[in-house]
Amino acid sequence: MTPQIKRRERNQRRERRPEPVFDKEAWMPKTELGKKVKSGQISSLDDVFKSGKKIMESEIIDCLVSDLQVKIVDVKKTTRVTRAGRHFSFRVSVIVGDGNGHIGVGTGKNIERITAQQKAIKNAKLNIVPIKRGCGSWECNCTKLHSIPFKTVGKSASLRVELLPAPNGVGLAVSDTIKPVLQLAGIVDLWSNTRGSTDTKLNFVRATVNALENLSSLKFANEKEAIIEEDEEEATIEEDKE
Ligand SMILES: [Zn+2]
Repeated sequence: MTPQIKRRERNQRRERRPEPVFDKEAWMPKTELGKKVKSGQISSLDDVFKSGKKIMESEIIDCLVSDLQVKIVDVKKTTRVTRAGRHFSFRVSVIVGDGNGHIGVGTGKNIERITAQQKAIKNAKLNIVPIKRGCGSWECNCTKLHSIPFKTVGKSASLRVELLPAPNGVGLAVSDTIKPVLQLAGIVDLWSNTRGSTDTKLNFVRATVNALENLSSLKFANEKEAIIEEDEEEATIEEDKE
């Protein structure tokens, strides 16, 4: 049996395994933030972002968000040709969100689709960011969080996405590709404009997430600088001292 076939069999076994259920008791957090989440000192995603610490363990999200939703953006089969033959692999991109102002995008690559997807979900959890919602529509002028507070622009590659606040009842007047992003963020009414090619779904989604992220970067520009300094210390995962 060649190593390749062996590897394939091992991956097939892995594929049959059901999605693991998060076991909080068995989780051994490696970062300071993880320890605070497990002990209950930090009990919400908003407190995580207030702490300014980077999420380096996906279990933090498993612990704090019990009903995280996952939407698959794209599945691509890629081929790499080497002297030994063709190598196929899958690249899966996903969005995760709590439907309440927090979303993340992630990609994962593996020769098995399911493993690529699991990696993508894990990466998306690590990339979760808070989204500032509000109502910036002069036609509506309410105080609910059904849209966004003001016009925002995001970019990915050569694609530029503009998101505009919409009044109550408009719904998501946007392309089907980015609808899930807004649904997972908990935005109900929105208009959008795009410039550039929207053929690459992942780019489209990234530009949208970038636009949503920019809603908070204006206000927190100064805070963010302080956060970056702190992150450098936190970046080294603590060794187990026991
Ligand atoms: Zn409104």
